[in-house]
Amino acid sequence: MTQAATRSLFDSLVFDNRFLRELPADPEPDNYRRQVYQACYSFVNPTPVPQPRLVAHSEELAAELGFSPDMCASDEFCAIFAGNRLLPGMQGYACCYGGHQFGHWAGQLGDGRVVNLGELVNKDGAYYTLQLKGAGLTPYSRSADGLAVLRSSIREFICSEAMHHLGVPTTRALTVIGSGQPVRRDMFYDGNPEWEPGAIVCRVAPSFTRFGSFQIFTARNDAATLKQLVDYTIRRDFPHLGEPGPETYRAWFEEVCRKTAELIVHWQRVGFVHGVMNTDNMSILGLTIDFGPYGWLENYDPNWTPNTTDAQGRRYRYGHQPKIAYWNLVQLANALLPIIPSVESLQQALDTCYGEAFDQGWRKMMASKLGLREYLEQSDTSLLDDTLMIDDLSQLLQNCETDMTLFYRGLADISPHTPAADFLAWFSACCYLNLSVAQRHSAKVWLQRYQQRLRHDPLTLEARKTLMHSVNPLYTPRNYLAQLVIDEAASGDFGMLREWLRVLRHPYTEQPGRERFAAKRPDWAKHRAGCSMLSCSS
Ligand code: AMP
Ligand code: MG
Repeated sequence: MTQAATRSLFDSLVFDNRFLRELPADPEPDNYRRQVYQACYSFVNPTPVPQPRLVAHSEELAAELGFSPDMCASDEFCAIFAGNRLLPGMQGYACCYGGHQFGHWAGQLGDGRVVNLGELVNKDGAYYTLQLKGAGLTPYSRSADGLAVLRSSIREFICSEAMHHLGVPTTRALTVIGSGQPVRRDMFYDGNPEWEPGAIVCRVAPSFTRFGSFQIFTARNDAATLKQLVDYTIRRDFPHLGEPGPETYRAWFEEVCRKTAELIVHWQRVGFVHGVMNTDNMSILGLTIDFGPYGWLENYDPNWTPNTTDAQGRRYRYGHQPKIAYWNLVQLANALLPIIPSVESLQQALDTCYGEAFDQGWRKMMASKLGLREYLEQSDTSLLDDTLMIDDLSQLLQNCETDMTLFYRGLADISPHTPAADFLAWFSACCYLNLSVAQRHSAKVWLQRYQQRLRHDPLTLEARKTLMHSVNPLYTPRNYLAQLVIDEAASGDFGMLREWLRVLRHPYTEQPGRERFAAKRPDWAKHRAGCSMLSCSS
């Protein structure tokens, strides 16, 4: 295809920027750091970069948006998603929001290194907001540089695409592009910054509105702009709730609580630890958003957090994510008081639509991970109490440092008749510790309880396996694999990244020849930076 023909395909993409059209703008056109009042966004364009190079892109997302393979292979594609060229209909802007960081109100934050390009409408009429992360300074950059490094951009790209294919609600990533511009980062916060390759990720979602997008207006006593943003969000992202009004506001908050509960159940299911669950990193649509120092459980440990900045308090550890989501929803509820003045109805939504919904969703999810048709509680014999069985399992996996992904995946092959010796041989291979006699004994005791429970479950062996394989992935974006991919990419080789992306498109399907992408963490990775510990420096 000629360059002119490709260009005309790009130029014919449709943009309809409703967010800009319907919400108040910051009147200041210049790009300098400032507090922005009574506005949802500021106009700002991406800063062009010297040498853009496409590192990877998501083929199916590109197709969904209307980019053909020819278009994706063109220089034009790379230039657009590096921020070097705006298409007709695109308009750059950065959003204003605030947030609670690590439990404290932090005031205005905003898109400090994100530039939104507008809302693309695909051939089916679906809207997608496109934004570039690492696209340069904005009015919200505070004291930082507006840029992103290649390692964290690859991590965001790979994990958001993996999440999508795992069935976890998430923002997506269309591209990761090396900028050709070095970026200075003090990765270990030890006073030794280094130059690293810079990059830009194009993120895609129906909306990037966060809890903090609402909080900022209430914190500033600006009920009028708060109401405008709430009404807009309901009309655009929750149209089934009807026209905004007192009843709709309540129903809307209830739905946000339910979506958040569903999201956290998914995170717990797959062993994802977000790492920075600040209220500015909580999506109003219940999507996983802002992939920073996130991590995946290898050895099952509810106390684990990948974020070195949080190593002391471990506020955002795996086992605490459900409580933190509740805490964040309470902050959102407080921010909505000007339009939902009934504390009782907000509290009721929190208790029912988050608390109870989470408990119910979690039980259902755990039952399916274990291959049980339903979750039994407090039945007459304690041997059939699933809460006790799961508590014991949690202890066992923790004590034996068992790989969470491999354990649940392989459990589908354990039947009521599997001999204890076979179970132990398999179980030991899933663990990072050499098991002691006592640990092997605990594992055997748990197996007996589980087998007894299975005998009381109506699912056939085959149905059980199908169920378990549909919720227990074999391939997750393991921390150490991300680091291997990053190491390769730093030397200009993107082969492993692209192969891994293909594997992660089918996380529940065994892929012969791709065993290395499902392997337990090797010893060298246990304490290596980037593998099990990450700083916020990105
Ligand atoms: P995060 O913890 O990544 O969600 O970021 C918190 C806030 O800091 C957000 O407002 C980001 O836009 C901003 N931020 C993070 N890194 C940078 C950077 N390198 N330049 C400008 N702003 C940043
Ligand atoms: Mg953020």
